[in-house]
Amino acid sequence: MSDNDQNDTAAVEIAPKEEDSAESDNSEGSLTVDGISRLLASTLNVGPSSTKEKEKVIADLTFKGLADHWRENGFKKIITMVGAGISTSAGIPDFRSPGSGLYDNLAKYKLPYPTAIFELGYFKKKPAPFFALAKELYPGSFEPTTAHYFIRLLHEKGMLLRHYTQNIDTLDRLAGIPDEKLIEAHGSFHTNHCIGCKKEYDMAWMKKEIFSDRLPTCTNCKKIVKPDIVFFGENLPEKFHNSLDGDFKECDLLIIMGTTLEVHPFASLAQLPGPRCVRLLINRDAVGRPKYTTWMDGHNDDFLLYNRPNNTRDVAFLGDCDEGVLELAKNLGWEDELQDLISTERKLLTEQELVAKQKPHAEEAASTSSPEKTAPQ
Ligand SMILES: [Zn+2]
Repeated sequence: MSDNDQNDTAAVEIAPKEEDSAESDNSEGSLTVDGISRLLASTLNVGPSSTKEKEKVIADLTFKGLADHWRENGFKKIITMVGAGISTSAGIPDFRSPGSGLYDNLAKYKLPYPTAIFELGYFKKKPAPFFALAKELYPGSFEPTTAHYFIRLLHEKGMLLRHYTQNIDTLDRLAGIPDEKLIEAHGSFHTNHCIGCKKEYDMAWMKKEIFSDRLPTCTNCKKIVKPDIVFFGENLPEKFHNSLDGDFKECDLLIIMGTTLEVHPFASLAQLPGPRCVRLLINRDAVGRPKYTTWMDGHNDDFLLYNRPNNTRDVAFLGDCDEGVLELAKNLGWEDELQDLISTERKLLTEQELVAKQKPHAEEAASTSSPEKTAPQ
């Protein structure tokens, strides 16, 4: 019996609950008959071999096929999960890759190894290198990309269930993705806390400290104040863990963009949606697929299976994230809407920037009596 379990599951999935109402007008009868014949065939292990294969969630698992399906049938509960690749076109250096220049700039700090800069133990002893890096990467010096605004557009259209980002650059917020839709899995510069007494500091305060080349020091206990980004060895935010179960149960399209799918636990989000959820990868490199032979594919849900024989629901666009979302927008007839949103939002950001540039001088004058430079501890 257990041998047949998997085949039974595949057959039952032919008539998913959610799609019943949408498709009942023209295909309920045939689906049921088809479903029964497949169930019989797989239980008795008879019939053409193709009936034993898992049913494809969408008929054509190409990028174009996905766009056609989207236009005709729609997706209602979309989750986006993104990494550094959606921010590189904003000019944010990929600081993890050696040779990007960023680590070279940190040479004067003589880090024992590059990643020490994101280790809590090292930070407590020597916070200066981190803040030097923070100054270079600081949010506000960069604008959201086309890919960010595409996600915003999904939100405007009421299709975005949640946006999970690995990035700490806050471009997701800047693009107008609201707090309740946003999970910053690795934290962000948006809030900051004293590592001693936990007093909270806002982004404006932190920014002023960083750009004045002062070590951000707690006004309460004189300890260092750290942006709430997740360092190595720290737990991911509670909001991340609390959202997973509910979100991925409902999701009907998962869009994965600009990530290597190698940093866990974030990467494992790709494995969470049910078998009827379509997964679209938009990425320069063909990531996420099993590295060994294809015959095991059907038994392994840990990987994406685009362009593999047993693929039932994975689609890939291998290229830049901005290029991928633009292509998608074109296919969905949203190109003008997306471009309008981008130009309106960018104009708004430029105006805000001008206002902000005039402000700090007044604030600076009022707060010159702030704590003197901290001596290294
Ligand atoms: Zn404190």
